[in-house]
Amino acid sequence: MACTICGNKTYPGLFSWHTQCGSCGYEAAALSVAINQQQLHETVNEVEREVSLKALRQDNFRTILGHARRHAAPTARTLLEVGSAHGWFLETAAPHFDVLGIEPDETVGGKTLARGLPVRLGYFPEALRPDERFDIIIFNDVIEHIPDIRSAVKACHERLNPNGTLILNLPSSRGFFYRLSKILAQAGLHGPFDRMWQKDLPSPHIHYFNTDNLKALLESEGFDLTFSTELEAVKAAGLRERLSHVGHVNPLKLYFQYVGILGTLPFLRLLPSDIIVCIFRKRPA
Ligand SMILES: [Zn+2]
Repeated sequence: MACTICGNKTYPGLFSWHTQCGSCGYEAAALSVAINQQQLHETVNEVEREVSLKALRQDNFRTILGHARRHAAPTARTLLEVGSAHGWFLETAAPHFDVLGIEPDETVGGKTLARGLPVRLGYFPEALRPDERFDIIIFNDVIEHIPDIRSAVKACHERLNPNGTLILNLPSSRGFFYRLSKILAQAGLHGPFDRMWQKDLPSPHIHYFNTDNLKALLESEGFDLTFSTELEAVKAAGLRERLSHVGHVNPLKLYFQYVGILGTLPFLRLLPSDIIVCIFRKRPA
């Protein structure tokens, strides 16, 4: 099979559903998406998931908004977030931009809508009117879930105003935890690797990029990379909830895990992060 990014040969990965490009390092998963299917939804405790992720996400969203304000055109006013989920980024960005979100998950999007945030239920770009254009389009932990990623990138190009900015916040295949999960999988422990890909969740990851192969994809679709950075993947805030979310764990064991990870946080900052943010500018026609 040819790599969807660079066209070179791809190789079987660690499991039957996983492939990797021998040339650019892009990784893909043949996992199926089942958003809005009630049965699968019940396997995820949305409330716990929300609490466990909120502190880290909100902190990262403030950082991303800062980058957006520095790197978008000074005249940028309208911002579209694809996959706006609980609306946390929309809330962060609303004081600075005229915001709109699109969310395919009706349960999650419906709740955000009920909180009074501007969200349309549906998919990008179908949920937009034919004439709608934006100065900034952002995907927070979303682009890696979209099966036909090239079409999504083309749609971004079409839906951005001249000089428009595309911001992608996504997991990195160079991240320390992702690489560690691969080593563990090779040693026979596949749990962490499955979790990295969000296997068996309603919307698993379909792609794993690094900054270089992501840049190659975007450059081939009329974008130039203007800025890239890493975000902290682990934070003390919400860590205890994140750990307890994993399953029914003995409280004492949980406490030692918590203290153990807390102690390694300064060290982890020196390693490649599992979260990257890349900012692209629409190339003039
Ligand atoms: Zn490739």
